Amino acid sequence: MCDVCYQEEIDWKFKNGGKSTQTCRLYRVYKGQSTPIKLCHLHAIELFCIGESRFLESHPRLAMSLHANTRSTSDVFAFS
Ligand SMILES: [Zn+2]
Repeated sequence: MCDVCYQEEIDWKFKNGGKSTQTCRLYRVYKGQSTPIKLCHLHAIELFCIGESRFLESHPRLAMSLHANTRSTSDVFAFS
């Protein structure tokens, strides 16, 4: 399942004609750490063409979900 399609409720199987998802990495979400995300063929091409910053700008729901993950991770560290 593509993370962007999942967030935006897109039927990725229909759009991608059965091509499987691939794992890409975002390098600017966390400092000094890369974040793996699953992308379908179309979104992987989009990320490659427009770059990470503009990709996150054009997919705010994905950016929000990454931000939510960041917060929950830091909460875990705060209580350990
Ligand atoms: Zn997708």
